[in-house]
Parts: sequence; structure tokens; C-alpha cells
Amino acid sequence: MFAHANRLLLKSIFRLKGDLAAGLRPPEKQFDGVEIAPFLGRAQAAITISADFELEWAFRSLRLEEQELMGVRTRVNVPIILRILEGASIPITWATVGHLFLESCERGSCGLAHSHMPRPPHNPHWDGDWYLHDPCTNLRKHPGWYAPDLIEMIRASSVRHEIGTHSFSHIDFSQETSNDELVRGELAECQAVMGKLGLKPKSLVYPRNRMGHQYLDIIADANITSVRHRDSTVRLTYPHRSESGVYKLYDSMNLRKGTGYDYPNKAKIFVGEAIQRNAAYHLWFHPSDETEVFENEFRSIIRHVETLRDQGKVWPVTMENLTAYCEARQKTKLTVERRTESIRVCLDSGYDVARYGVTDLTLRVPLPRLPTKCFIGIGSDRRLVQARPELDRTGETPVYLFDIPATASELEIAY
Ligand SMILES: [Zn+2]
Ligand SMILES: [Zn+2]
Repeated sequence: MFAHANRLLLKSIFRLKGDLAAGLRPPEKQFDGVEIAPFLGRAQAAITISADFELEWAFRSLRLEEQELMGVRTRVNVPIILRILEGASIPITWATVGHLFLESCERGSCGLAHSHMPRPPHNPHWDGDWYLHDPCTNLRKHPGWYAPDLIEMIRASSVRHEIGTHSFSHIDFSQETSNDELVRGELAECQAVMGKLGLKPKSLVYPRNRMGHQYLDIIADANITSVRHRDSTVRLTYPHRSESGVYKLYDSMNLRKGTGYDYPNKAKIFVGEAIQRNAAYHLWFHPSDETEVFENEFRSIIRHVETLRDQGKVWPVTMENLTAYCEARQKTKLTVERRTESIRVCLDSGYDVARYGVTDLTLRVPLPRLPTKCFIGIGSDRRLVQARPELDRTGETPVYLFDIPATASELEIAY
């Protein structure tokens, strides 16, 4: 009772602060009674989580002891975070500084680190070269600057996390501290170092949350499909497709301890609102934060998401996979042919699977009774698919859900 009253009070505070301003609704995708659900599995909200994974790179303007502490704490926290996520089978996006993929690096003959890399046109944080702090040694000597071991640990997890990018050297994408050449060079270097592991960066988190949307065409050219966006009022919205085809995933909140209130309660309120609105909720964090915040606040939020996921209400997903779903949904049109005891749904899709990646789409099909046999056509193949009843339906006609590959050409249902 007390907890409930508390949550209502908190919610009105967030509302007054403007934190719960309306965002985009999912675009209508109804075709003759058949709908492409806003999210996979007909979840009512998507949950994405991103980590700004940078070790010492983000903290170069701090005093040396503080900078080193951030690296040390990240190394302590990553296994803890991975274990919490494994316990709940929840994937997240690790927005990784490109330099962390290196095992070692060397100073060039000119005395500069990474001399082939473009430098920011302006640096308000320190005098001298942009790569001044790079120790130019190796993982063993300076584990705050190189982290192939941690990246390997993330990839070895039983949960399939996304490895995204946070630029190569933690640049600031603001107008005065960046230019086309720098952004192109940074993204190309990330592609190069990640490519050695068979990885491709698909999601970008701008360092320091300084948004570089002016570079979305360059970002799209680098085959990145989503960026994290911070809006001053909108925290919950359906993902927003920019003209370049790069999606903006809105940041809902960052992980921290609540000042004067229970922080996981804030997350519960926001996730509850996202469910009401068919919106995407996004939590982000620094793995360099105090370990306590992971043991307590993070664990509690993940548990809540797990419970809602198990109830079919939310879809915890990486930024890359959420973007793939939204893009496939956006690009797909359905035509529905009804016969006496069957229905055929044809998918007409211009979905660019090479760019956005493989995804399923969830179709909601009203049917008078339980389907007997369902097939999809995909290329020259025909495959059986399963239907499952939508449990919390309110209408008269039963609705059945089908998860089918976005690249399928048809769904045939006999009933
Ligand atoms: Zn280096
Ligand atoms: Zn950062």
C-alpha cells in the first residue's frame, strides 16, 4: 500500500518535470485486419540497454588516479554485469571504444600515437596531441587502455550481446570538435578493428552524449543503423527513423542511485508507461560506476524486466535487433486473400536485410478458430510455422500470432 502510494507520487513528480512527454506512436501497420505487431512477439514495449564501454578513454581529462580508478572499476564490474544479465537471459548493447579491441599499439616514428588517424579540429579538454595519454604499450602493462580480454568475455557469455561502437578514440561529435574527415576516419578504424573479429558495428553511442546527427549520412555510409538519442523532453517513444535510415533510439534514463527516492521505482514507472504507449524504453550506464549500483539498482531493474518479459509484456533486445525489427516492419506491406477455410497473407517487402540484419516479424491474424496447418514461403522453400493464441485479447474474434522471417514471401493458414 505504502509502496504503491509512493510510486504514484513519484510518477506525478516525473510527469510534472516533463519526463513523461508524449513521443511517437508506432506507425499503423494494419492490412485488411492483419497487423504487423509494433514489437516482436507482440510485446507492448521494447527494452534496450546500452553500456558506454570505454575504460580510461573517457576520463583522460581527470586526474591520473581517478582516471585509473575508472579502468579498474570497469574490470571489476564487467563480469558482475554479465552474470546478472546471464541470470535473466537479457542482452544489451556494449558501445565499445574501438581502441579497446587492440592488444597493443606503438608510437610512430614521428613520436605520435596512431599518426594515421585524423585529429579533432579543436580540443577544449587538454593541450597537446589528441592521443597524448595513449600509453602505446599493451594489455598487460596498461589494462585500462586495451581490453580484448573483456570483449572476449562479453562474446563468450551465454547471452548474445551486441558489440556496438562508441567511436575509436572517444571523440566529441559536436560541431566545433569534429568534422567529416574525423568522423569517417574514426568509424573506418572501428570497422577495421572489429572486422578482425568478424564483427560489424551497427549501433553507435555518441561519447559524452554529444549528438552528431549532422553526420547521419556518414554514419549510414559506415553501415551503422542506430544511434542513441537524448531528447530534453521525450524519454519514451517508438524508435524514430531518420532520412538516412539510421534510427534514433531515445535514452529514457541513465543508471544511478536515486537521490531521495528508490531508483528502480523510477525504472518501473517508466517501463510501465512504455507498456501503455507501445514505446521503447532505454536505460544506459557506465560500467565504470561504483560496483554497488550494479549489485543493487541494476540487478533490481533487470529482475523487473525479466518478470515482465516472462509475462510477454516487454521485449528486451539489443539496439541492433530492435532497429532491424522496426525497419522490416516499416518496409513490409501485406495483402490478404481469404478463402473458405484458409487465409493467405503475402508479404511485399523492400527490407534491406544485408544492411539491417536478419529479423522475424510478428503478425496478428484474427481467425474464427484454431489453425490446423500453417506454412510460410521463403525463397523456393516452404516451411511449417506455429501459431499461438493471443492471450490477453479483448475483441470477439480470437487472434493468433505468427513469428515469421521478414524475408518470407507468404504465410498460408488453414483452419
Ligand atoms: Zn593506441
Ligand atoms: Zn563515453
